[in-house]
Amino acid sequence: MDCIFCKIVNGEIPSYKIYEDDMIMAFLDINPYAPGHTLIIPKEHTLDITTINKETLNHLMDKARDIAKLVNEKLDAPGYTLIQNNGFVQEIKHFHLHIIPKYRKNYELDVKDVYEKITQ
Ligand code: AMP
Ligand code: ZN
Repeated sequence: MDCIFCKIVNGEIPSYKIYEDDMIMAFLDINPYAPGHTLIIPKEHTLDITTINKETLNHLMDKARDIAKLVNEKLDAPGYTLIQNNGFVQEIKHFHLHIIPKYRKNYELDVKDVYEKITQ
């Protein structure tokens, strides 16, 4: 299947991976809304909120709390938003949850530098 996020899971496309376990993977968005913009995906391909199995969704959401906390603490972000798109507003057709840090002032940082801050 020609899915860009499956290719990231398989290591065929590089990513700034910040978390991985048996079921899920988290990596930095390459076109971020804000520094630290992270995507969390199930490793097994599934379309969206209507198709992901409950066990995977529960695990993903549970880990999303820890990953969001880590990202925001490392970047000193005072807030964050979780978004998950479905249907025509979903560009990549492999389930993903966005974690988007929010800053009070305009703040820009290269994805590579964000990755170093989070993983150091
Ligand atoms: P959505 O509109 O919810 O499908 O969002 C898809 C997101 O995937 C966008 O924020 C893109 O910037 C992001 N994206 C697309 N390709 C990649 C990639 N190779 N690595 C990381 N993020 C990506
Ligand atoms: Zn996929």
